[in-house]
Amino acid sequence: MDREARQSAVSQITQGTPQATCHPEELPTHVAIRLFDYNGNPMTASAYDVAVIGAGVFGAWTAWHLAKRKQRVLLAEAYGPAHARASSGGETRIIRMSYGTDEIYTRWSQNSLNQWKELSVATSEKLFRQTGVLWLSAEGDATLDESMATFRRYGVKHEAIQRPELERRYPQLNLDGISRGLFEPDSGVLLARRAVACTVESALHHGVQLQIAQIETPRATNKLECIETSTGERISAGSFVFACGPWLGKVFPEILGARIFPSRQEVFFFGTPPGDARFAPPALPTWLFQPDEVYGMPDMESRGLKLARDTHGEPVDPDTQSRLVSPESAEWARGFVARRFPALEHAPIVETRVCQYENTSNGDFLIDRHPEFSNVWLAGGGSGHGFKHGPAFGEYTASMVMGEGTPELRFSLATKHTHQKRTVH
Ligand SMILES: Cc1cc2nc3c(=O)[nH]c(=O)nc-3n(C[C@H](O)[C@H](O)[C@H](O)COP(=O)(O)OP(=O)(O)OC[C@H]3O[C@@H](n4cnc5c(N)ncnc54)[C@H](O)[C@@H]3O)c2cc1C
Repeated sequence: MDREARQSAVSQITQGTPQATCHPEELPTHVAIRLFDYNGNPMTASAYDVAVIGAGVFGAWTAWHLAKRKQRVLLAEAYGPAHARASSGGETRIIRMSYGTDEIYTRWSQNSLNQWKELSVATSEKLFRQTGVLWLSAEGDATLDESMATFRRYGVKHEAIQRPELERRYPQLNLDGISRGLFEPDSGVLLARRAVACTVESALHHGVQLQIAQIETPRATNKLECIETSTGERISAGSFVFACGPWLGKVFPEILGARIFPSRQEVFFFGTPPGDARFAPPALPTWLFQPDEVYGMPDMESRGLKLARDTHGEPVDPDTQSRLVSPESAEWARGFVARRFPALEHAPIVETRVCQYENTSNGDFLIDRHPEFSNVWLAGGGSGHGFKHGPAFGEYTASMVMGEGTPELRFSLATKHTHQKRTVH
């Protein structure tokens, strides 16, 4: 490109063709201006109010809420929304209200469930399945009582179930060591990968631009003017939100390398017997065997009974970790199923997945300003329970970026330590 052409290389791209379901009158139609620098490198002038990096559940909903507030938003994603290696990848995630005394998460879960339902209506996709969620606890577990106290304060429908009634309702379960249960009838399962795709699609209809690009670690002092892609394109914006999930420690090694702990998590699906409805809803709800630290869900979309350990696996790199389950874990999963679901003792493993949690020291989310850049936000730390909260997380992050609302101390960087001591489950 010659100098003259370079100087006049300004193209205008009108974005955001609204869909009927997305309230067109509310949609920002905006213009992105493409420029090139003197070396012919593409450069985007301050076309964006906010650039969100990462299109997992947190980045997607942050972009969505910013666009609803008439911000011009770029959503940059290295691989694609909720891709196979992302923490938001995979078919399903539990949405439940019980959080013991950590009631902020109960409130966010309630808020988020409403927004997930609204998104389902707006996109004509059934993203939420109301399976109910059943907590199964041993004698002396105070969490159920704490959750019930929170439920009463916030009007969450629930039912305490004693052991004899559990046995009557769920004869397909072996309840050894379980003394009581807590049932959340309005909770259930989100179709994860599809839900993120729908969030991004809806965000695009609200004017967000999606760009497949890997963003380099930003370098600047005080205020960040632009970010750079791995292919050298510069993107400028007023503010930046890094919602990079388990990659946060790789993007910001000095600040987050020792504060985000990606852990390997293996997931199993067991085939149920033909013509047997005992392991599908409504016979079986989503379940959590608290003493075993194992959770799972009924046969959803005919993929089989899903289960996984909630304990943290070994530290991993989300780019390179093996996505094949280990023989030892498969053996453990078979043993668990044989013990808790005796009729599935010889059931085949029909599918597996390996994912990673992106834990903070105690399980609280991280949503805070970068300590060196006033206009950069760090947003992540879902810690194995973040998916359900995507809508409320995005809403809160958008309000922080726009200078509204009161920051929540427990989401601050200052409360994120370099040693793990999990308190939020
Ligand atoms: C096995 C498993 C089970 C879980 N179960 C539940 C559950 O039942 N209920 C629940 O609520 N939560 C659950 N979670 C937790 C939840 O899924 C995560 O907390 C949540 O998905 C995290 O979303 P995220 O957007 O932060 O991360 P991600 O989904 O990983 O998104 C981050 C994105 O950033 C992109 N990115 C990173 N670096 C860059 C860069 N430099 N440039 C551009 N893009 C970049 C990545 O490609 C990625 O797409 C579970 C997690 C796992 C792994």
